[in-house]
Amino acid sequence: MQCREFNEISEAYLSDELLVETNIQVFRHLENCPKCREQFAAKRELRNKVRAAVKRTPEFQINPAFATRLSANLKQTALRESGWQKFLFAPKLLIPVMASLLIFAALGFVFLSSPNNQPPQLAQSQKTLIDGLTEIALKAAGNHEDCALENMPMWEKMAERDYAEKAIYTEKVAKPLQAKFSDKIEMLHAHDCIFEGKEFTHVILRRGTQIVSVFFDKSDVLPEVNTATNASIICEKEKGFQVASFQHKNQAIFVVSEMSETENLSVARALSDSFAA
Ligand SMILES: [Zn+2]
Ligand SMILES: [Zn+2]
Repeated sequence: MQCREFNEISEAYLSDELLVETNIQVFRHLENCPKCREQFAAKRELRNKVRAAVKRTPEFQINPAFATRLSANLKQTALRESGWQKFLFAPKLLIPVMASLLIFAALGFVFLSSPNNQPPQLAQSQKTLIDGLTEIALKAAGNHEDCALENMPMWEKMAERDYAEKAIYTEKVAKPLQAKFSDKIEMLHAHDCIFEGKEFTHVILRRGTQIVSVFFDKSDVLPEVNTATNASIICEKEKGFQVASFQHKNQAIFVVSEMSETENLSVARALSDSFAA
């Protein structure tokens, strides 16, 4: 997939209207193209802000009868359009009410529903893997700050101790990284950890002067992916930290640090490759 093509379909991707096969191509392009990654992150942030604003504002609700008409009209228009684009859209997801709402929200239109109307049933946008990972990535970043960085004196003190979990994650995480990188990778601590209701296994490492957290998601079991999508790593900046997320089998894994995006990604890549081997 080229940048031009990615730009054309990224809006649809954000609205979850693409077919699964196209999603995989989008993932691949995002992983390999820093420019599109940056633009996509900005678009997603704007979309999330609009979504949050729509949810928060009670009067910002669409009249259901109008929504049905609007949706039908947009569908008609979309079906009349020729070209390859329409084949990318899954017909059953074609422009759901939520997407129509967002289009108008972005344009600054406000629809007031009369008090006699039934509360509107907004179509729940289907969650994509990328959305799910982003939500947890934010918690991983918070956990890194709250647990790894806040308690660093304690982790340093405990670094000499031996216990079962440390042995397991030294094999699983520290050793593959030590084999891959020439600089010193030090295992500080491994434990189970909860942040804002999210359970992780938390592995804290030191690479040179940098503290790196690796989180294994314990509570959400993702649908198992095939090896092709296994290779996808998503990079984003959350709370000022670099977060690289990927999926191995049915588990989401996050690498969080203050290293550069490239360095943080290379740690995630080394782990992903080692798990897949
Ligand atoms: Zn690109
Ligand atoms: Zn922790």
